[in-house]
Order: sequence, then structure tokens, then C-alpha cells
Amino acid sequence: MTARVLVVDDIVANVRLLEAKLSAEYFDVVTAMNGLDALEAVQRTKPDIILLDVMMPGIDGIEVCKRIKANPATQHIPIVMVTALDQPEDRIRGLEAGADDFLTKPVNDISLFCRIKSLVRLKMLTDELRLRSGSDASIGLIVRASDGSGDGTGRVLVLDGRPSSSDRIKQIIATRHQVEVFANPQDLITRLNASDPSFDLVVVSIDEEYYDALRLCSQLRSIESSRQVPILIVIDPDDQARLLKALDLGVNDYLMRPVDRQELLARVSTQVRRWRYTEQLRSSVRATIELAVTDSLTGLYNRRYLESHLNHLVDVSASHGKALSVIAFDIDFFKIVNDTFGHDVGDRVLQELATRIKQLTRNIDISCRVGGEEFVLAMPNTDIAAAERIAERLRRSIATKPFEEVSGKNINVTISAGVATLSGPEDKVELLLKRADLALYQAKREGRNRVIQQAA
Ligand code: GH3
Ligand code: MG
Ligand code: MG
Repeated sequence: MTARVLVVDDIVANVRLLEAKLSAEYFDVVTAMNGLDALEAVQRTKPDIILLDVMMPGIDGIEVCKRIKANPATQHIPIVMVTALDQPEDRIRGLEAGADDFLTKPVNDISLFCRIKSLVRLKMLTDELRLRSGSDASIGLIVRASDGSGDGTGRVLVLDGRPSSSDRIKQIIATRHQVEVFANPQDLITRLNASDPSFDLVVVSIDEEYYDALRLCSQLRSIESSRQVPILIVIDPDDQARLLKALDLGVNDYLMRPVDRQELLARVSTQVRRWRYTEQLRSSVRATIELAVTDSLTGLYNRRYLESHLNHLVDVSASHGKALSVIAFDIDFFKIVNDTFGHDVGDRVLQELATRIKQLTRNIDISCRVGGEEFVLAMPNTDIAAAERIAERLRRSIATKPFEEVSGKNINVTISAGVATLSGPEDKVELLLKRADLALYQAKREGRNRVIQQAA
């Protein structure tokens, strides 16, 4: 993984040291030696992450951090504050100013790369999600909603087998979050598989006396409900080998014993906040995708989705020698429904029709509204005889049950349908839809309210 890192420190030796370490790991390094230069470098070089010294003459690191986080164009760039070991209150001030993490001088290599990699990985993910979730305007809304004010309370699961330590961890985290403590991995796994497994962070205390914590971390990464959820481990400072192993397994952050109250709370809160943010982005991406492929009136898929998905279905069906059929249908004399009852009632007829289609089809069938009152149903693993039966059932269920629920009036609706099936590996989506359409026209010509099969 490579990324552009902006290193900010007013002391040349510090800048050079970090620059050398990062360059050796193939990071692209940009440097600045005071607050104003740092702000300018952020605008000019668009770094993926910023290592920011707290104490600098002029505009100090805290102020630089605040300004970057207050600007919508730069607030998503992760900031790691670099603080002096004897200034623990700087860490808290940094986190309050919006910093994502902190490192203490002299900077230890493991923590440097762990924190940079995990923040850069997260930024790449959120950049991708931000891009896919559409406009910057909607992003602005999400960021504001998830940023700052929201109460930020998370649900945190803690694994700690040592009663004295687990009590303390619980008590610290509980000042800001909901906590559930587990004394062994089995109970925690059971909780993850519960019907409502929702939680925002797992804290694992690495303690060989009680259980194999690394095995648990690897299990967490393979269980569906916890695959992506952040893991924070608590570990002894002399346990470097296990720390590296844990980071390899995808653990997001770590904390050294003895547990510092403020650091634990800060790291837990940061992980929870980030998790919430990426979850919001994910659901916004899902919503955007949904919007792009569905018809807003009926909730059925739209033509765009039909065309791309049908291409995929044709490929899969042709290569596996499986049947695939489509039904094209159109409401008969729908103009009269509108003219008689009004356009709004017409709309509700379309919605009710969509409901009936969904009731009569399988989950794997793709129901689409491809035009005003024109629909297509694509049915995998379905030969023409079965497709015709389904079309006939649909036609009958519409014709025999008036659409009175939409307006209290007896509205009789009928449809005409054309059925076509995939003929072989040479067949094409356009040809398949064309045959269904021709059959539909024939059904209209022959008097409507009927199903016609494609010509042989
Ligand atoms: P045919 O049996 O030949 O299909 O007759 P038809 O009246 O259904 O066909 P035509 O294509 O002449 O008219 C379709 C009508 O569908 C016209 C239009 O007002 C109506 N329509 C199309 N989209 C919508 C919609 O979203 N809402 C409503 N209420 N009506 C729509
Ligand atoms: Mg019609
Ligand atoms: Mg029409």
C-alpha cells in the first residue's frame, strides 16, 4: 500500500527522521515546517494522511488540526498528532480538535506503520464510498450528520478473562458507551450470532492465561456480523510478536498495558466514530445504487437494470445450458383508466399491479417496469411452457380481481402478454426481448387480455 503522507514538525531532525522511515516503506512524503505551510501543503498536495506535531511556534498543531477538520474539502483527511511523552493532555486536546489518532515521540516503528496503514486503508475505503455514493452535496450532509454533535455512543463488546482488569475496562468504557463484557471467546461468539448482533467495536484483551485471543481475532474476521467491525486489542508492551501477528490478522488498533484511562476512551470513541461514518457511507451507497436501478412509482426494477441484468442472466444460462424465459406485458386500454378515473388513480393501479406481480413471482425472478404501463418479467431456470403458465396465472389474477382497493371503485384491468425463451448460446438479449414484444403485439391484435408464445 502506498500513500502520500504530509509530515509537519518545526524541528528539522524530526521531519528528516520520519521522512526517512516513511520513504523506506515507499510512502510518498511531503513536508512542512510550520502551521501555515502545512495548511498550504494540504491544499496543494492533497495528502492521504497527515502527521502533525503539536508544539510549533505561530499556529500550533491543534489549531492546524481544527482548521483542516473545519473545511469540508479536507475534513476527511486523517490526522495523527505527534505529541511529547510528557504532555499527555496534548493527546486529549488533539482528539478534541478532531485528530484521528496520536503517536508519542520518540515514534516507535510498529505504532507508526500500524496507525498510518489502518488510517490510509480506511481513507481509501471512504474515498471509494464517497465517490460511489454520488454527489458531494449528499456527502456533505452525511459528514455533518456523523460529525461532532451526534451523541457518539457505541455498543462495545469486550473480551477479558481477568476479572480485575475487565471490571476496570468496563467501567472506563461505560462512561461514554454501552458495554458488554465476556470472559471467554465462546460467549462472545454466541453473542455475535445472536438475532440482533449489532455492535460497533470489539475490544480484545490479549491474555494467554485465559484463552487464545489471536484465534478469536481471526474468527471475528470470518464471521459475517463482525467481518468489518473494528477490533481494538489490549496487549503487554513486551508482546511485540503477538502484536504484529494481530495487526496482520486485521486488528485495527491497539493499546498497551497498563491501560491509560484517557487513551482507552479516546481510542474506543475514535473507532466507534469511524465505524459509524463508514456504515453511513455504505448505506448511502446502497441507497444510491437502489435509486439508480428501481422505478420510483412501483419499486420494481427499471429498464436500465433489466438490460444489464438480463445480459448477465443470458451469459450464465447459456454457459450452463439452463433455461431462461421472459414475459413482456402491457395493460390494455390503460389510457381509458386514466381518462375515466384520473391520473392519480392510474398511478395507484400501476402500484397495485406491481404488488400482484411480486406476489406471483419468485425471488429470483426479475420484475421490471420498462415503460409507462409496460412490464417485463425475467425468469431464470424457466422453460417456455412454465413461463406461459406463469403469464397465464398473472393475466387471470389481474382480470378476475378488480382493482377496487386503489379507489373504492370497481376498476377492471386486463393485460396482454408475450412470452419468449432463450434459444441457445447464439441468442441475444435484444432478440429475446424482441420476440417477447412481437408476441405481445400479436396478443393485442388478437383482442387483448391474452397470452401469446413467441413464434416458433
Ligand atoms: P393498449 O391496450 O393498446 O396498450 O392501450 P393503452 O391505452 O394502454 O395504450 P397507449 O400506449 O395508447 O396508452 C398508454 C397510456 O398509459 C397512456 C398514458 O396516459 C398511460 N400512462 C403511461 N405511464 C403512466 C403513468 O406513469 N401513470 C399513469 N397514471 N398513466 C400512465
Ligand atoms: Mg397499454
Ligand atoms: Mg403502451
